[in-house]
Amino acid sequence: MTGFRIFDRRSLLLLLSLLLLAGFFATTLLGYFVSRQAIRNAIAGQDLPLTASNIYSEIQKDLVRPVLISSTMAHDTFLRDWVLKGEGNVTELSRYLNEMKERYGAFSSFFVSDKSAIYYTGKGVLKRVSPTEPRDAWYYRVRDMKPDYEINVDPDLANADALTIFINYRVFDFSGNYIGATGIGLTVDAVRHLITEYQQRFQRTIYFVDTQGQVVLFGNQTGRPPDLRNTPGLGPLVERILRDKAGSYQYLANGDNHILNVNYLPELKWYLFVEQNEETALAGIRRTLYINLAISLLVTLVVLAFAHLVLSRYQQRIEEMATTDELTGLLNRHAFNILIDKVLADYRRSPRPLAILLADIDHFKQINDQHGHRAGDRVLSSVVSMLLGELRESDIAVRWGGEEFLIVLVGCDSAEARRIAEKLREKVATSPIRADSQSFAVTISIGVSQYDGVEQPDETVSRADTALYAAKNGGRNRVEVARDSGTFVQKVTVGQPV
Ligand code: GH3
Ligand code: MG
Ligand code: MG
Repeated sequence: MTGFRIFDRRSLLLLLSLLLLAGFFATTLLGYFVSRQAIRNAIAGQDLPLTASNIYSEIQKDLVRPVLISSTMAHDTFLRDWVLKGEGNVTELSRYLNEMKERYGAFSSFFVSDKSAIYYTGKGVLKRVSPTEPRDAWYYRVRDMKPDYEINVDPDLANADALTIFINYRVFDFSGNYIGATGIGLTVDAVRHLITEYQQRFQRTIYFVDTQGQVVLFGNQTGRPPDLRNTPGLGPLVERILRDKAGSYQYLANGDNHILNVNYLPELKWYLFVEQNEETALAGIRRTLYINLAISLLVTLVVLAFAHLVLSRYQQRIEEMATTDELTGLLNRHAFNILIDKVLADYRRSPRPLAILLADIDHFKQINDQHGHRAGDRVLSSVVSMLLGELRESDIAVRWGGEEFLIVLVGCDSAEARRIAEKLREKVATSPIRADSQSFAVTISIGVSQYDGVEQPDETVSRADTALYAAKNGGRNRVEVARDSGTFVQKVTVGQPV
């Protein structure tokens, strides 16, 4: 049987896969987005601030002692006396400066006299400062500033321009007149180590930015410091960050989301930038996402394969159970098998004669061959209409084969059946069939048999088939009645059970 569909399996499977995929994807993606938000919040709210405050307190700790040392130097009577006595023996001062440096593990120590403008270090006279020399600008700033000291980061003139944190302390004589600046310089190496360690441990980028927005100190990287204003994504934020002094920011660079935490360090007049490329932090859950999606896809495929299998079986059974033939509307063989059991059960309860006709269209192949399959189909259904028009409601008509019909006549013995068969044959033979604007003269041959009360139904059919064969051999457009089976029970005609 062809084309019979209770439902469209393909669209059902499609719907099922859409539902499954939508469900899986929705939950997987929702889970991913929730964890991503949680990670983002953790980075912005805890991880970066914690790193920043660790670095900050480390720096503060590193700076408190140097400030104290520099303060001690600024108040040292030896230093002040030495200046007031006219800066005589340079070796005395340099020994003093050297001693301070060594004792406290500083990188450098210095004194600049306001009177002579000489820059002294542990090695002696370094140079003379000048208001016109840009590199000495710090001194004149310190001379004129209000606070006692400043922390300044500059290349150290005395140490091959190594980046150094200087504590610049103002020195006064015993009557409070300004006489110079002293202090120590610290290498930023310690801070740099810290930054590098944090960067490696947490894959964060850490750097210090001055109030102009220039990167002044960053990890152990070599090369030029990054130019913030020209960094994609970050550039437009720089002015706002410098204004805000502290805050949390996000920006997109090269498709990656960066989370940035900024804190202003008043001691250094620096901003501490701690930033994390979110992609590295999200790599884990992203991998989970892909695995989940793959699992979802796999489960969907398995479910689909299973559903496909079940549906195929189901459909096959439904098709088997379908009882009518599509072209003619007659019952099919499957329906016959069910019905004949019921007819035989009735027969056993109250035996009445039972006849079978097997009708076959003569030379039907020629119609197909000469006029095409479509015309053949039309002829076929016309013949069926004719047959049905001659039969009773209680008769059972089955499409037995291509152009072969089986008819169960309940209550008819073979003689009555032969009469009906003749009527059918005559009807078909005398009614030309119009199909595709042509007229077809069609005849049928019929074999008749009567159920003997004991045989299997297919034996009755087989005898009708033999009769049909005889009708065909006898020249077609004929009715032939089968010989009785050996066990034919005549008694049934008088209504006695077998
Ligand atoms: P005979 O008189 O011996 O029965 O000759 P025939 O040509 O009818 O021979 P046969 O029964 O062998 O051929 C039946 C043909 O009917 C063959 C098949 O192609 C055709 N047929 C079977 N079912 C259908 C159908 O549903 N539609 C059409 N158009 N043709 C069918
Ligand atoms: Mg035929
Ligand atoms: Mg045939």
